Amino acid sequence: MQFSSSLLEQAVNEFAKLPGIGKKTALRLVLHLLKAENSAVQGFGETMIRMRNEIKFCQRCHNVADADICSICANSMRKHELICVVESLREVIAIESTQQYSGVYHVLGGIISPLDGIGPDQLNIETLVSRVRKEHTQELIFALNPNIQGDTTIYYIQKKLQDANVRITTIARGIAFGGELEYADEMTLARSITNRMPVESYRTGG
Ligand SMILES: [Zn+2]
Repeated sequence: MQFSSSLLEQAVNEFAKLPGIGKKTALRLVLHLLKAENSAVQGFGETMIRMRNEIKFCQRCHNVADADICSICANSMRKHELICVVESLREVIAIESTQQYSGVYHVLGGIISPLDGIGPDQLNIETLVSRVRKEHTQELIFALNPNIQGDTTIYYIQKKLQDANVRITTIARGIAFGGELEYADEMTLARSITNRMPVESYRTGG
């Protein structure tokens, strides 16, 4: 791609760094911004900068928030004794989109993956364990990817909470996050939460 303006080229290159955006799409977006009102482009840039600078993470569940506690944790209509444990914000957004879940969340910030150098200490596991004890949580629903890292993470947390009186379940198998499915198939996701099963029977394949 040849540009007669280095400013235009830089803008295209910035967009092309985003996931799923190739050079052609990047050019289309930049040309769109070039045609837009100055104030609209200014607003676009300021929104991105404010999002990055000012966003907070909930002190209770580590979800994104505009305050110290996120809107889900602050909502007294939610079932606070029911915690859905997820890897990242993507799953919170996916599950919230189903409008079928009335509990709260805990965002781990990843899953245990020794090959990638991610151990339990790098994740929000201690805060989950102390939260369960403090808040007398009745049930933890694990909504993690059905793979060895997901299983390891569940096993680790389950062991940490062996003496706590909390029911531990997992969403039905066959639900894989991380692809496009998270937004594409809300019905399946909602059903998998409703049809969740105890971790013991799931571990033995029952
Ligand atoms: Zn929260």
